[in-house]
Parts: sequence; structure tokens; C-alpha cells
Amino acid sequence: MAKSPEVKLAVFGRAGVGKSALVVRFLTRRFIWEYDPTLESTYRHQANIDDEVVTMEILDTAGQEDIQLKEGHMRWGDGFIIVYDITDRGSFEEVAPLRNLLEEVKKPKNVPLVLVGNKSDLDHVRQVGTEEGERLAAEMACAFYECSACADDGGAVAEAFHELCREVRRR
Ligand code: GDP
Ligand code: MG
Repeated sequence: MAKSPEVKLAVFGRAGVGKSALVVRFLTRRFIWEYDPTLESTYRHQANIDDEVVTMEILDTAGQEDIQLKEGHMRWGDGFIIVYDITDRGSFEEVAPLRNLLEEVKKPKNVPLVLVGNKSDLDHVRQVGTEEGERLAAEMACAFYECSACADDGGAVAEAFHELCREVRRR
């Protein structure tokens, strides 16, 4: 039997956007309200994606690392999720610089990437429109998901991780 493929995924984005909540939601289908914001963790997870068992190693970054550490995480990963918070425009503005750094670190390789706008349950205090997220994702030629780590009804969180695995496997 063929060895199951392994992909290394790293989650980036400003502190507080919900990276840890998203990872925990994906791994446990539960929402945990408070998570140590300075914590950086890796998790292993297996999932059946398109009839193939894929082993993921997921790095939940703290979002406040210095540049050397950040670049190290970027070199480590095969695929990346950049998260912003739809209620925090500043977090959205940090997406493009992160992506540019990724391109720089990974060049000349193409960077498998997924953009996630989190906290869609907080629509009443939204600062970033869905179309803005879609436009940015189109510019970066990557998939885009709006989702909520705390009210993930449609399974968009898992879909984002699975799509990233597919993207990595396509390269
Ligand atoms: P991180 O710093 O990016 O890892 O962010 P955390 O996962 O620690 O989340 C930061 C804060 O946002 C916490 O208070 C979470 O409870 C909250 N949070 C995370 N995801 C969501 C979400 O989808 N909706 C809402 N309403 N709050 C969220
Ligand atoms: Mg965190």
C-alpha cells in the first residue's frame, strides 16, 4: 500500500483573528472561547480527502513572532492559511504583506494558499465586505472562505483546510 501523503500546513494572521479557534474547531469540531494568544502549537491530524488518507501537520502560529521566526515557519510549511477577522480591517490589511513575504521566502516556488475571513457570525460589526475578501483572493489566485470558528454550520472551516491539502497535492 502506498504511504499516505503528509502535508505541512501553517496558519498565519494577526493575533486575535481566531487562528487557534479555527484550528481547534477543525480538529475537534468544537469552539474554545479563550486560548492562550502567545501559544504556538503543532498538531497532527488525519483526514480522508477525495478517497485518500492525508496526514496533516498543522502549525498554529502565535501571530506576533519576529521576522526570523516567521520566515522559519514559512520555510517549514508546504501550504498556508492566511486568516483575517472580518470585524478588524487592520487584520485584513496585514494579509498582503504576509503573502508577499511568503512569495519572497518560497520563490521561485508557487505558494499553495487559502484566504480565510473569520468571525462571520459577527456580521453586525463587520468592517471588511465579503467582496473585498473575494477580490483579494482573486488577486492572490487562491481560494477564499468566510467562516466562523464559533458557529461553523456549513463546515466551511474543514473545507478550507481540505482545499489547502488539495492545493498542496496538486503542486
Ligand atoms: P489567534 O490569536 O488568532 O489564535 O485568535 P484566538 O483563536 O485566540 O481568538 C481570539 C479571540 O477571538 C478569542 O476571544 C476567541 O474567542 C474569538 N474568536 C475566534 N474565532 C471567533 C469567531 O469565529 N467568532 C467570534 N465571535 N469570536 C471568535
Ligand atoms: Mg492563537
